[in-house]
Amino acid sequence: MSNPSLLILPGDGIGPEVMTEVRKVIDWYGANRGLSFDVSEDLVGGAAFDAHGTPLTDETMARAQEVDAVLLGAVGGPKYDDLDFSVKPERGLLRLRKEMDLYANLRPAQCFDALADFSSLKADVVGGLDIMIVRELTSGVYFGEPRGIIKEGNERVGINTQRYTESEIARVARSAFELARKRDNKVCSMEKANVMESGVLWRDVVTEVHAAEYPDVELSHMYADAGAMQLTRWPKQFDVIVTDNLFGDLLSDLAAMLTGSLGMLPSASLGAPMANGRPKALYEPVHGSAPDITGQGKANPIACILSFAMALRYSFDQGEEAKRLEDAVEAVLADGLRTPDLMGPEGGTPVSTVAMGDAIVAKLSASL
Ligand code: NAD
Repeated sequence: MSNPSLLILPGDGIGPEVMTEVRKVIDWYGANRGLSFDVSEDLVGGAAFDAHGTPLTDETMARAQEVDAVLLGAVGGPKYDDLDFSVKPERGLLRLRKEMDLYANLRPAQCFDALADFSSLKADVVGGLDIMIVRELTSGVYFGEPRGIIKEGNERVGINTQRYTESEIARVARSAFELARKRDNKVCSMEKANVMESGVLWRDVVTEVHAAEYPDVELSHMYADAGAMQLTRWPKQFDVIVTDNLFGDLLSDLAAMLTGSLGMLPSASLGAPMANGRPKALYEPVHGSAPDITGQGKANPIACILSFAMALRYSFDQGEEAKRLEDAVEAVLADGLRTPDLMGPEGGTPVSTVAMGDAIVAKLSASL
């Protein structure tokens, strides 16, 4: 059998720096766990624009459609700020998401014990937190028509349309229920059914999918504004939260900050299953290209490394190996190793991007 295939797109800014550390982890799995990947690497974002005049070539797009999973670093930077919108680095990422039809965006909010004091909330509220936000990514008010700014009499009017079809709601609900079955078996669906028809339909469809296909999973519903309050009051009440594009954008950022640094946050965007049963998948850290620290050895590689852990779990069915990697990260943090973004008032041992990657690989070896 051939190895599973991975396309690596390091991108811009700190993207290549953090991806170098992920490559060490990938190599470790090949050498020590018999888990080898056929890895190819290509350009995206500003790096692709510099080389080809486009943030994503058709060849790279085609390759992304073929592989088992795509791992992306970050795109963008001040050098590209004045480019036309059509060739901005972010367009490369948007094209990948759109053409791969990645409708379910998974953002875990997981608080490692060693970083509990780092959160803006009390340590006992966030310590051991492990929740997953599933955000619908390809529809809703960011895409709905009509949209635009029109003139009405003497005034300008800004218009966006929240629009969801039943099938769009059903497929992301299925993603959430499937995930819950691999976790604590609980889904909370969030919308604004009290004031929005699209919210009423959302609640109806989630309820129908649950009754027909996932009655074993515990389902609850919450208005998204109440959900925001509950997330800050007692986030551990949740397991999987499923919500639309707009509310998911806000709630996932809120949940992310419960856990401290942007440098710690992975994400996955999943689409429909391919012929081999694996979902179309793009894994990437939540952070951007961090131009303010690029090239200084200050970037925290953990968000990107944990994104690879998500790939192990959700694309390659290697939950135990994903856990091994997460445990290695936890162990390094428990030892007090800190890239500058993790250096809180309690101090720690300052380490560079490379030293953090090496330490995680050393913990992987120690786990054998
Ligand atoms: P950013 O995430 O790049 O940085 C925000 C802050 O967090 C900065 O101070 C940065 O130094 C810090 N930071 C981010 N990642 C870090 C890490 N791994 N380790 C340590 N510190 C880290 O967001 P921004 O500054 O708003 O945007 C910079 C560029 O990145 C822009 O061009 C933006 O468009 C782009 N961007 C890309 C993505 C993406 O590729 N998915 C996401 C967001 C922003």
